[in-house]
Amino acid sequence: MGKQYQIIIIGGGVIGCAIAYNLAKLGVRDVLLLEKDAICSGDTAKSCAIVRTHYSNPLTCRMATVGRDVLADFTARVGGASGFVRCGYLIFSGPDKLDDFEDNIRLQQDAGAEVELIDPRQAVEIHPRLNPGRIAKAGFEPLSGYADPHLTTMGYAEAARRLGVEFRQGVSVRRLTESRADRVDGVETDDGVISTDTVIVAAGVWTNAVTATVGVRYPFEITNHKVVHFRFDQEYASDRFPVVRDLPGVCYSRPQDGGMLLGDSNLGDPVSGPEVVDESLPRDGAGHFLRNFENGFRGLEGARITSHWAGRYDVSPDSNPIIGGVPGKEGLLAVCGLSGGGFKLAPCIGIMVAEKVVFGDSRILPFDPYRPARFDEGEPFRNAYKGTGAMA
Ligand SMILES: Cc1cc2nc3c(=O)[nH]c(=O)nc-3n(C[C@H](O)[C@H](O)[C@H](O)COP(=O)(O)OP(=O)(O)OC[C@H]3O[C@@H](n4cnc5c(N)ncnc54)[C@H](O)[C@@H]3O)c2cc1C
Repeated sequence: MGKQYQIIIIGGGVIGCAIAYNLAKLGVRDVLLLEKDAICSGDTAKSCAIVRTHYSNPLTCRMATVGRDVLADFTARVGGASGFVRCGYLIFSGPDKLDDFEDNIRLQQDAGAEVELIDPRQAVEIHPRLNPGRIAKAGFEPLSGYADPHLTTMGYAEAARRLGVEFRQGVSVRRLTESRADRVDGVETDDGVISTDTVIVAAGVWTNAVTATVGVRYPFEITNHKVVHFRFDQEYASDRFPVVRDLPGVCYSRPQDGGMLLGDSNLGDPVSGPEVVDESLPRDGAGHFLRNFENGFRGLEGARITSHWAGRYDVSPDSNPIIGGVPGKEGLLAVCGLSGGGFKLAPCIGIMVAEKVVFGDSRILPFDPYRPARFDEGEPFRNAYKGTGAMA
């Protein structure tokens, strides 16, 4: 008879590692994390790791604020480094849906996030290369920025290991096992069956491939998301330029290695399964990325693409995370539906899941509103941007 674990976590991305660390920190022993490949080899490795608190519901705004605070103080709170760069986050709206945008800024302020509503002149003072003609109003978050997804995930994994969590890499979970039709009690891996009280699935876009083995499917769609890196004749430095979210242009950008990362902020192109990723540039070459760049910025000469890549999003119907189990299936909990925004939320989700396991409920933030059943029960989160991009 093999060892019985209290918790098995499936997936060594930022979510699985943050959960592992927070469980161990709260004193949970016998935690095993299984990763089919290597730590931080999934979509966390593709992340732009932008950290902002702009959301159109107060709970996820608070989730992001907790995430930002942990990432900004990672060495003291977790250990290791997160690579957090506090360059600020500037989001702007055109005249369309301006009321919604201003409501969101007020909502953020009410939720305790530091953000200021500013006009185009102030936006250009903060970011002198922005094209003010596109800006009706902007929001500026001085405490936000971006981090490093590898450093952060490794930081969580190392801290969890120090506290006793066991990691097995290169071990794939083939299926979940059940003692009864309503009770998950372990996993079957390449190395055999391992028993546990609770399975936590943090397998990103692969979540349904795992949970479908016990007849459970979480409501998210998998999409392909491309990012390009530009360089210019002059340096695009993180101590001079904040992260920019261009709502009318449906794109975002941030400094990286003296150049700029630029991504579409649409929901991505649906793909047929978790193994599918299209890393090619769009058919028009870099055309639409360049157009977005030229519309949004001015005075950055010699733009040329230096690299590009793609990853997958697990997009939920309201673009907010899905966290929890499903009725009639004890011993199973999953985190998915992160909708292209899971990096910054991982520190808070890690705390929430650990508190749920240890105390029976999450103390830092309510757990129930994120339940998968919210869609069937007609209680999705408000999303002021539904239909206009990957923003919730
Ligand atoms: C291009 C891109 C840009 C992004 N930019 C941002 C951003 O700026 N800000 C932000 O907050 N978020 C961003 N995101 C989203 C964020 O990166 C993700 O939401 C987050 O990293 C997902 O983490 P995860 O741990 O859920 O998934 P993953 O990192 O994919 O981890 C899941 C792990 O599970 C493992 N696994 C799967 N199946 C099994 C199995 N059967 N057995 C064992 N192991 C298994 C996989 O190998 C993988 O390592 C971006 C995402 C992409 C793709």
